[in-house]
Amino acid sequence: MKKASSLYIHMPWCLRKCPYCDFNSYGTSRILIPQEKYVDALLRNLTAMSDAYHPDELKTIFIGGGTPSLFDPVIINKLFEGIEQLIHIETDAEITMEINPGTADRKQLEALGGIINRISFGVQSLNDRYLKSLRRIHSANDALSIIKTARSLNFRNINMDIMYGLPGQTISDCIEDLERSLAIEPDHISWYELTIEDDTEFGRNPPQNLPNSDLLADMSEAGIEKLRNAGYERYEISNYCRDGKKCRHNLIYWNFDDYLGIGAGAHAKVSDQETKRIYRIAQPLKPDEYMRSCNFIENAELVSKSDIPFQYFLNRARLMDNRLELTDIVEHTFLSPVEVSDILKSMEKENYVERSSGGMYRITDKGYLYNNDMLISLLPD
Ligand code: SF4
Repeated sequence: MKKASSLYIHMPWCLRKCPYCDFNSYGTSRILIPQEKYVDALLRNLTAMSDAYHPDELKTIFIGGGTPSLFDPVIINKLFEGIEQLIHIETDAEITMEINPGTADRKQLEALGGIINRISFGVQSLNDRYLKSLRRIHSANDALSIIKTARSLNFRNINMDIMYGLPGQTISDCIEDLERSLAIEPDHISWYELTIEDDTEFGRNPPQNLPNSDLLADMSEAGIEKLRNAGYERYEISNYCRDGKKCRHNLIYWNFDDYLGIGAGAHAKVSDQETKRIYRIAQPLKPDEYMRSCNFIENAELVSKSDIPFQYFLNRARLMDNRLELTDIVEHTFLSPVEVSDILKSMEKENYVERSSGGMYRITDKGYLYNNDMLISLLPD
């Protein structure tokens, strides 16, 4: 297993907190974001991680949030100059930034074009009625227009985040939303169900007209079919691409590979090849506390051996590639071949996995459908 060659950067501010959002993000106005100070903290954070974990050259970088597009491209450029001084960024590295359609314009994308090569647009819906119910700050036209602008500026790797299961949504509205999205021919679509998380405004006061589970299942089936017929490969439970343009950065998480993470509330995962141990490192959630932090690796926590099977499959079982290989699991988990073999046999007994060709296993339909039960079966007693 290789050293980390991926970096996640968290920008924790948004113009307004969306009622369904449980990410580590804080509503504010653009002028109140201490951009320079935050970037200084990010670079101190990366210095500490790089000194402690000696990562490889960076092959993927993902700037997420929050709303990273609230940052001035000049400051983002300064951040990348700092990163390059610490860790070399490969010339063909995938560099993604999440962009909220309500916060970007041509000038900004032009400036970002020399830094990033993949954009993930948080569109959510191309129907203003649903954008309103999600209290997003952008309209469908804002989203369409900024994506067209990105194309005209030669961005060749564009993702659209689209949700289904929205308050009051019918199956035909849901499919129409997908059709409008497909008409723009994005390279990648993250198509996922709105989930109501406890610690959110929707969690405290859920919308009354959410689709029931039967309707959600119908939406899911019809949407998967629509995307497949349009030539998009479903390579992860909620992620679809064409022309092989999978998100290389997110594949790092799903394959249980190592990555660095910097920023308020960011997580990193690193493996010690000598001691065969896996650590997770989390940064303070609150931006102020994070920017005051002096020791960015003190929160390193050893992942206990008994938690590793759950954590591995929590990520790996999201991929739809039908390739579970014993040696690969051993390499990523540091469990012994006998331990991994025992885990696979017990999952096979429950019909969560089955043997496929070449000594490999694959997740069964039951494993995907009852993913939660499968994961619970992997938890320590
Ligand atoms: S814009 Fe995105 S990160 Fe910000 S509050 Fe809304 S959903 Fe959360």
